[in-house]
Amino acid sequence: MGRPTRLVSDIDFDRDGKQVDWLGLPHSVTRSAYGRIMIPIACIKNGKGPTAFFMAGNHGDEYEGQIALAKLIRTLEPGEIQGRVIILPAANFPAAMDGARVSPIDGGNLNRSFPGDPDGTVTQQIAYYIDSELFPRADLFHDLHSGGGSLDYVPFASMHAGAGEELDRRCADALRAFAPDVALVWKLGQDTRYAPAAALHRGVPALGGEFGGTGSVNRKALAMVERGLRRHLMNMGIVEKPKDWAAAPPPRRVIVPGQGWFVYAPEPGLFEPAVDLGQTVKKGQLCGHVHFVDNPARAPVPCHFREEGIVICKRHFGRVERGDCVSHLAVDEPW
Ligand SMILES: [Zn+2]
Repeated sequence: MGRPTRLVSDIDFDRDGKQVDWLGLPHSVTRSAYGRIMIPIACIKNGKGPTAFFMAGNHGDEYEGQIALAKLIRTLEPGEIQGRVIILPAANFPAAMDGARVSPIDGGNLNRSFPGDPDGTVTQQIAYYIDSELFPRADLFHDLHSGGGSLDYVPFASMHAGAGEELDRRCADALRAFAPDVALVWKLGQDTRYAPAAALHRGVPALGGEFGGTGSVNRKALAMVERGLRRHLMNMGIVEKPKDWAAAPPPRRVIVPGQGWFVYAPEPGLFEPAVDLGQTVKKGQLCGHVHFVDNPARAPVPCHFREEGIVICKRHFGRVERGDCVSHLAVDEPW
């Protein structure tokens, strides 16, 4: 047995029906001595069956997943399911209310905080609750991301490869069932500070995905998420499959082979990109220039792609510091 969580809730995960409630995280401040941070959670259950656990707002400025899960909470009824769906639509709640990647309370990045700490900071306590209370109940975990304010993405659903043959296969099955336009496989190694990697570490098939970015709401990607979540429930047998279930074509499969497919700003300044999102580039091709408006006589400094591939991610903000990611590639690798 691990140490107990400090989060309190009236949610009973074994009770049939739809419960939309909160996790109360004790947080004592000047304006509220015995106050709690109220993190929304829903549990929709009917009888025996598998459990799907969907999460968004791991990063607060990534909105497609938050909207899709709020809609699912309102529309999914216990009578149409067999099994259980647990939904955490704004996981790092202080960050979500701040429209920010990290928590305004402790600066915590929830997706670098697993497995968390029940006696740690607010963000570490949220991670601990998810890791110790929710992952053990799940048969599938899907963590919905977007690029946030600083990045823009070609929308995709994703999995991390390398969790072992059985988990890799179950993740790939779930990824295909979700039927995104693009299915991306990260091959960057397992870092269990990330939510999906922490779920995999507990033996739970886990997916991710970047469904847009720039701190805006991508309508096409939002539709992809809404459709995909319903497809998860059908694929798991929680919701009955429609007659045309087998008709979905396999999505385009791409991989991110390693850090060599990322490009970083070489200097602080203003970044002028030389490529567009979705474009195919060659090894050595120009990625962009950093300009120096504080010293306009200085020649702009270029940076280049070190590998070939598709521009799946681009920086959104014009200003860069040295070391900011300005782009990364993905490479076609069919199923
Ligand atoms: Zn994110």
